[in-house]
Amino acid sequence: MSHIAFIGLGNMGGPMALNLLKAGHTLSVFDLSPAALKTLADAGAAVAASANAAVTDADVIVSMLPASRHVEGLYLGADGVIGRIRRGALILECSTIATQSAVAVARAADAAGVAMLDAPVSGGTSGAAAGTLTFMVGGPADVLERAWPVLLAMGKNIFHAGAHGAGQSAKICNNMLLGILMAGTAEALALGMANGLDPRVLSDIMAKSSGRNWALDGYNPVPGVMDNVPSSRGYSGGFGVDLMLKDLGLAAEAAMGVKAPIPLGELARNLYALHSAGGAGALDFSSIVQLLQAKP
Ligand code: NAD
Repeated sequence: MSHIAFIGLGNMGGPMALNLLKAGHTLSVFDLSPAALKTLADAGAAVAASANAAVTDADVIVSMLPASRHVEGLYLGADGVIGRIRRGALILECSTIATQSAVAVARAADAAGVAMLDAPVSGGTSGAAAGTLTFMVGGPADVLERAWPVLLAMGKNIFHAGAHGAGQSAKICNNMLLGILMAGTAEALALGMANGLDPRVLSDIMAKSSGRNWALDGYNPVPGVMDNVPSSRGYSGGFGVDLMLKDLGLAAEAAMGVKAPIPLGELARNLYALHSAGGAGALDFSSIVQLLQAKP
C-alpha cells in the first residue's frame, strides 16, 4: 500500500480519493474547498495545510484539477511542488489538460528525479464513484507498470496511449466526440419533443436503434428520463459546460497544430460557448438541450 497525496477533490477527485482510501492506501489531501476537504477527512484522510505539505513524504501524487493553468501552477514555477516531492516518487496527473502542459510537467519531474504519467480519465462522476473509470495513459511502460495497482483502485480499463502527452491527446479526441454526441442527442430529443414525442419513449427507441450512444445509454440530457443523472438533479454534480468548453478548445488547439479539419468539433465548441455565454457555464454539459429546445 502507498502513501498518496491527492490534490483536487471536486466532482471527480473526491470520489476517486475515496476509492483509494477504500483500497487501503493512506491519503494526504489538499483542495481550496473546505467542504471537499471535510468529506475526505470524515472518511479518514489526513488534511494538509497546503499542496506543498501534502506531497512531502508521498510515494504517489495524484492531481485532479480543472485545467492546464491549475496543473502548471501546482507543479511548475517558483512555488511549484516538484521541488518538494521526494526523488523516486510517482506523479499521476489525471486532469484533462493540454498535451504540451503534460509534457512540460513530465520534463520538470524528470529533472527532479520524479516519475510522471499523464493519466486523464473517462467515465463521469458515476464512474469515479463506482471505481470504473477508463484511464488513458501517456509515459514510459515501466512507469505504468508501477502505477497499475493505484490506477486499478480507481478504474477498470487502463490504456497505454503512448509517450508523455499521448494520454491527453487521446482524451481530447474522446471528449470532442462526447461533446458532439451530447449536442446531437440533445438536438434529436428536442426535435422529437417539439413534434409531440415523449422523450422517454424516443430515448428507448433510439437506444435500441442506430442512433445509440453513451448519452442515451446512461446520461440522458432531458430531466426525468433517467434517475441519478445530472439532468434529473437540476444539472448539478456532473461535468460542467465550461469544462466541456475547455476540452473542445483543447481539441481546436490540437487541430490547428497539425492543420486537421474538425468541423463538427468546432460547431460543438461554439454551441457550448453560446450556452456558457447565456449563463450556463457551471451547469452539467447535458444542459445543452436547453439551448436547443423550442421555447413555449
Ligand atoms: P471540479 O471543478 O468539480 O473540481 C476541481 C477541484 O479542484 C475543486 O474542488 C477545486 O476547489 C479544486 N482546485 C482548483 N484549484 C486548486 C488548487 N490550486 N489547489 C487545490 N485544489 C484546487 O472539476 P471536476 O469535474 O472534478 O474535473 C476535474 C478534471 O477532470 C477536469 O480537468 C475535467 O475536465 C476532468 N474530467 C471531469 C469529468 C466529469 O465528469 N466531471 C470527467 C472526466 C474528466
